[in-house]
Amino acid sequence: MIKACIVSIGNELLNGHTTDTNCPYICGRLLSIGIPVVGVYTVGDDIKQIVRSLKLAAEDADIVIVTGGLGPTDDDITRQAFAELLGVKLQVKPALLKDIRKYFADRGLTMPEKNTIQACVPKGASALDNPFGTAPGIFAKMKRKLFFSMPGVPVEMKEMLEKSVLPRLTRKDGTGFTIVKKIRCFGAGESALAEKLGNLLERGRNPLINITVSSGVITLHVVASARTKKQAEQMAKKTVNRLRLLLGNLIFGVDDQTLPEVVGHWLMQHRKTITVAESCTGGLLTKLITDVPGASDYFTHGWITYSNQSKTELLGVPKKLIEKHGAVSEQVASAMAIAARQKAKSDYAIAITGIAGPAGGSKQKPVGLVYISVCDGDNCQTKKCLFSYTRDLIRTRAALTALNMLRLWSSRTRR
Ligand code: AMP
Ligand code: MG
Repeated sequence: MIKACIVSIGNELLNGHTTDTNCPYICGRLLSIGIPVVGVYTVGDDIKQIVRSLKLAAEDADIVIVTGGLGPTDDDITRQAFAELLGVKLQVKPALLKDIRKYFADRGLTMPEKNTIQACVPKGASALDNPFGTAPGIFAKMKRKLFFSMPGVPVEMKEMLEKSVLPRLTRKDGTGFTIVKKIRCFGAGESALAEKLGNLLERGRNPLINITVSSGVITLHVVASARTKKQAEQMAKKTVNRLRLLLGNLIFGVDDQTLPEVVGHWLMQHRKTITVAESCTGGLLTKLITDVPGASDYFTHGWITYSNQSKTELLGVPKKLIEKHGAVSEQVASAMAIAARQKAKSDYAIAITGIAGPAGGSKQKPVGLVYISVCDGDNCQTKKCLFSYTRDLIRTRAALTALNMLRLWSSRTRR
């Protein structure tokens, strides 16, 4: 089976300044085409360390993917490290130099001489196109191992990976194939969900099922390995169907689908509109909904009524209701949702009111207590939730739970 190793280069990755986001992205994309990443090296801008890690990576894997160190400044030395690894000199490629000069000229600038280094490629290696920047990548072969070197800037790296690297990695060997399918779930804890799966989670199975959880979203990775792609796909499909039977509507999507996307897609397909009134989430739910391109088709309004006064003035929630039950209450949540829907004349409304903490909790109403209301023209459903951990997590869980309530509501309406 073909395996890959990643080398992340840059001092900024080692001094706490920059989080390595390239690495997980590359791991995911490689796995999606059946190539597992078996190791990751992170090194600073030090030529000895870079050359050493490239050698180690090539011992571990057939493909070495490198990011970083292709900038024009003296600290970026990945090109030089490749030349040393391959035992060759760097050569200026006139066509690359022309492209880089043009990149500057198109922006009304003259290319600084420092950028000439970016037109250099180790002898015998080739360049990878960079449509978003001045640093071309490098493709080199050494003892049947393939090396791909890309810029560190995530947007440039992603474009190069998709356009120039992954297409060259279409599998050619017959030694095995791995397919990964992701199933995304919301609405149960990790252990409760695991219980439903019984022995499907046992280690050593094929397909293997791995679980990850983030902000309440549980992702099941179904990893199927077989001799051919077709066999692996069939095995993965069979397991996914079994998961669907076992988990039912806990599953909201597949692969990288998000709850806002799934809910938004449903609203768009059914030509329904949504409005929201938020208190403790302070606009987060509105952000999640409008993160999805095309949200203007179904999203009408978002009120942030953080204070009691704004709940009364903007939504018309009776002052007496707030005084009687408190702003964080089932009654106020449903009053906010009903009022928001009426004012916006939308099909659905969601309202959220809660205590995000860290202060402001009491014995009766602790930090993490959140009421979420969803209503349409006929009904209003309010859920009392108690979320834990930090302010950030409480707010994220509240916004996602609200979207999940609407998703379940819509699945009921569908029947
Ligand atoms: P470089 O290709 O080394 O010039 O990197 C340019 C910039 O990309 C760096 O200054 C970082 O901000 C960013 N960068 C480099 N490597 C990574 C990485 N592994 N993950 C995320 N950002 C990175
Ligand atoms: Mg750098």
